[in-house]
Amino acid sequence: MTDLKPCPFCGGKAEDGYYDAYSADSSFDYIGCTDCKAMIEYDDRGHARAEAIVAWNTRYKPKAEELFDQQIAEYVKRGKP
Ligand SMILES: [Zn+2]
Repeated sequence: MTDLKPCPFCGGKAEDGYYDAYSADSSFDYIGCTDCKAMIEYDDRGHARAEAIVAWNTRYKPKAEELFDQQIAEYVKRGKP
């Protein structure tokens, strides 16, 4: 099973679950948070499971933060001047 990162909203535990509604048409699979209930539905009719997992695990990173990380990585690689 693919590792799911914690919830991007509250840091809660993520689960690969199934919502069992009264009818099969209303039931769905999802990647979601056990705490705040944020979720991404997936099924054969819409998003595939793999897409839902990638979307759940993707985090927004501001450009400045990305640049900072690159500079830190370069600094560490070079060692102290
Ligand atoms: Zn959450």
